[in-house]
Amino acid sequence: MTGNGTTNGAAERTAADSGAELAGQVALVTGATSGIGRATALALAGLGARVLVSGRDEERGGQVVAAVRAAGGTADFVRADLRDEASARALARQATALAGRVDILVNNAGVFPFGPTAETAEYDFDAVFGTNVKAPYFLVAELAPAMAARGGGAVVNVTTMVAEFGAAGMSLYGASKAALRLLTQAWAAEFGPSGVRVNAVSPGPTRTEGTAGMGSALDELAKGGPAGRTAGPEEIAETIAFLASPRASFVHGALLPVDGGRLAV
Ligand code: NAP
Repeated sequence: MTGNGTTNGAAERTAADSGAELAGQVALVTGATSGIGRATALALAGLGARVLVSGRDEERGGQVVAAVRAAGGTADFVRADLRDEASARALARQATALAGRVDILVNNAGVFPFGPTAETAEYDFDAVFGTNVKAPYFLVAELAPAMAARGGGAVVNVTTMVAEFGAAGMSLYGASKAALRLLTQAWAAEFGPSGVRVNAVSPGPTRTEGTAGMGSALDELAKGGPAGRTAGPEEIAETIAFLASPRASFVHGALLPVDGGRLAV
């Protein structure tokens, strides 16, 4: 347990002591330079995967790679600014060229600007959908067929609890993640018969660099759920790692809420 009462779980395990259930597998984690993505990269590396850490910030990416290596894992940084089809396909091709294959794709990179619908500019709309929907769409388009051809693979999409209910000020963000939730189900139908499992986690309020500026508003959001507190990024990463692992071998097209119970009440 850590000081804030969260468990580090898979993030603390090394490939050696975990039985290395993802040994020999290559995992591409988008948005792995920060928050939930960084914790996911550490968790997957702890299970034995070779992790491709992706993001825009090379310095923080290098720090995540160093942390994985210090824990006995294998990682490389692949820079990408995910906004459109071209940037997504370029990342997929670069990752495949570097590691030879991608067995696990975690679509975690995301932006979450909040604000009134009346004040949202078309530029912001396109930017949110570009990073949160278009990039995952074309990453899957580029990588899932190769997974299917090999007869197996896993995709985990990171959505949000505010894709599941209406929240003032979160129309654009929630709608983009609701699209990703539907894509999770559509891709499960499309690629599942070829052995590619596609699932999603729906996090609740989680303490990350991205939410640091929200201050007490994050705590207020968290109070609506039975757990009554915010999550640590490792708690979300643990579930992502589970869905990516063979332990979830019969889980297809699921949306797993990791939100302290907020969607249940
Ligand atoms: P974060 O700390 O802000 O990290 C976001 C990550 O996404 C960073 O690694 C960032 O890369 C990357 N990213 C952003 N825009 C990008 C772009 N255009 N191209 C490539 N990478 C980009 O966020 P977080 O809180 O960990 O959130 C991670 C995911 O969980 C997001 O999809 C978010 O919507 C979702 N989520 C978060 C919460 C929460 O409360 N934290 C709740 C529900 C869902 P650089 O830093 O290198 O630029």
